Amino acid sequence: MRSAIDLTEVILRRFVINLVTGGAGFIGSNLINKLMEAGEDVLCLDDFSTGDRSNLQKWLKSSRLKIIEHDVSNPIELQVHKIWHLACPASIVYYQKDPIKTSRTCFLGTNNMLDLAKKCNSKFLLASTSEVYGDPECHPQAESYNGSINPIGLRSCYGEGKRIAESLSFDYFRVHNIPIRIARIFNTYGPHMSPYDGRVISNFIYQSLNNKPITIYGDGTQMRSFCYVDDLVDGLVQLMNSEHTGPINLGNPTEEYSILELAKIISKKINPKTKIVKLSLPKGDPRERKPLIDLASSLLDWNPSTTIHQGLEKTIQFYKNL
Ligand code: NAD
Ligand code: UDP
Repeated sequence: MRSAIDLTEVILRRFVINLVTGGAGFIGSNLINKLMEAGEDVLCLDDFSTGDRSNLQKWLKSSRLKIIEHDVSNPIELQVHKIWHLACPASIVYYQKDPIKTSRTCFLGTNNMLDLAKKCNSKFLLASTSEVYGDPECHPQAESYNGSINPIGLRSCYGEGKRIAESLSFDYFRVHNIPIRIARIFNTYGPHMSPYDGRVISNFIYQSLNNKPITIYGDGTQMRSFCYVDDLVDGLVQLMNSEHTGPINLGNPTEEYSILELAKIISKKINPKTKIVKLSLPKGDPRERKPLIDLASSLLDWNPSTTIHQGLEKTIQFYKNL
């Protein structure tokens, strides 16, 4: 039987409406899963440009989840309490497909969601990215590093887009006192990543499962560190519920691999006979990227715990079931 305190908590939670923009995408759908499992109400706002309703399959019949098809670069009137602003393509393939739309999504989309936060007096969390550090000159990257970005490069619609989104969020905080939270997310992977979005882990798993050669761009010595999505989502929730504006890095520094090492780990798990081919390295591809997470660790008591092996097993199983 529930205690009186439990019931009060449940009732209070029911009055909190979470708006998750980009909720039909990879991280958004994993976040919605966590909020729904906690008994909260969720409004998912998405234009389905890279996300898909099927990512929310488990909750489509729940009265606690509402889905609105909407492009965040257009204003919208809603009554919400917490805004988790994730809407933006994250894979290089998608964000470069229509770079002007990407910049508009970053600037106008964030502006519209901040205006909504102002009207509703709600908390606002921005999903920013390690891409704000560009091709970093220092390694690993701390939040105090201001980055090294080519403002006119092919990746700048995304990297500069997120920088203006951070800048705008801080101005709403300073001018209008909006309680903002900025998460700088590093390479994240896991179930519900689209197998076609061109990111390294989804590509390698898809290729190995389908007996296609694994495509390494460049010589494969570039380094990335990989965070499993459940750890990342815990970090987002802890940041939203904290009193810290950020920016705060969220990523997994202990799981750092070269792309060639990653290809070998994945092919060994799926099909050791998978061939590896080397293709040209995209322009502006950062050499290395790894977060310093001392802030997240000390301020949020957040430390990712999933190893690459545990995370890949779950991700590969998800792809096999698709
Ligand atoms: P994703 O492409 O899977 O999801 C993005 C979602 O946003 C999709 O559902 C898409 O349809 C929606 N969307 C895009 N533009 C929109 C618009 N104009 N209006 C409404 N909806 C729109 O990407 P993801 O990996 O889930 O990334 C989510 C957020 O996290 C993004 O803001 C991204 O920049 C950030 N991020 C992700 C990573 C990562 O490794 N996955 C790393 C750094 C930052
Ligand atoms: N990459 C690769 N083969 C692929 C996809 C990506 O070698 O099929 C490389 C890519 O060039 C980059 C790294 O893997 O160096 C990570 O790429 P991803 O797009 O996943 O993330 P990001 O570049 O944003 O870190």
